[in-house]
Amino acid sequence: MKKSLVIHILVIVIAAAAGSMIASALVNDQGRVSVNRNKTASKAMFGFNKFLADVQWMLFINYCGSIDSIKDQNVDEVYNRLAAILKNDPDFQKAYEIGALMISIKASDKAVELLKQGTDNPRLSTNWKIPFLAGFVMNHNVPKDKLGALIGKIKADSHWFFETAAKRSSPPEPHVISSLMRAKAEKLLNKKWKENITIVNEKHALLCAWIDEALNASKVRMGTDDSGYSIVVSSVKDMNQKILQQAANLKKNYPDNQNVLNTIAYLKANYLKGQNFCDACLAVYGPGDKFCSSCGTKVIVFGVCEDCGAVKKGAHCSSCGAPKGAAAAPAPKAAEKK
Ligand SMILES: [Zn+2]
Ligand SMILES: [Zn+2]
Repeated sequence: MKKSLVIHILVIVIAAAAGSMIASALVNDQGRVSVNRNKTASKAMFGFNKFLADVQWMLFINYCGSIDSIKDQNVDEVYNRLAAILKNDPDFQKAYEIGALMISIKASDKAVELLKQGTDNPRLSTNWKIPFLAGFVMNHNVPKDKLGALIGKIKADSHWFFETAAKRSSPPEPHVISSLMRAKAEKLLNKKWKENITIVNEKHALLCAWIDEALNASKVRMGTDDSGYSIVVSSVKDMNQKILQQAANLKKNYPDNQNVLNTIAYLKANYLKGQNFCDACLAVYGPGDKFCSSCGTKVIVFGVCEDCGAVKKGAHCSSCGAPKGAAAAPAPKAAEKK
């Protein structure tokens, strides 16, 4: 009897000790479990937010199907739904690209703001469509009286957006380049370009923007400038041809405009040094040509042997054997004579 009582008490004491040990172990475990739970919870929340954004996107598409067009009455609702999707998943590229275009007519400034958010998102830094769309909507849909306030608010203009798009795409699509150049040209409009040249109109501005670009690019090539302007030039196959074509069209339409003529003179003196092209139509002509093959105007002959008049091909005249002498570079000489 006595012995069994002692064993009983012993069991109770051991059980109590074991119980408290297990209890404290459990509490520690619980702590560990709950810490882990917090970590997994935040991960799960992120995934959950993406999931939520997907669901919201489906509902959004559904909602857009239920309205026949975006109007003043529903544009706020459409915008709010988009903003909610992008809050849950700021990396949702389609929501920027498609959604912003949907509201671009009725709420163009809000569309540009959303696209700016997408452009600034470092995880979308290889997406060139988002900045391109931002520039496009800004240029086409934002009313002129709202433009200044919008640029002030988001600290970016269409030129910045197009340049960002061009830098992100390699090589840039032709429409990215032409948009970028038009944005550059817009900044030149109604301003003085060079000392004796005032920009006449959009086409003139565009030509001058291209000349600037080409000159900057040649500076980049020579290592005196590293502002990265060559993105544009390196993506254009025949820069000279492109610039001459624009200059020729401008001259055709404004044959007596002194600003246009001065621009062509500037082009000759600075960019196309040593190139031979027809004064009348600006078509490039080859060595030995006496008349422009495009318009028939008499041109200054270059690249021929001074002794026999044959076209020079190498170090010596292939017709009479005379070496390439003092008349080795007749092209600039011919240009100076005028
Ligand atoms: Zn010609
Ligand atoms: Zn010869």
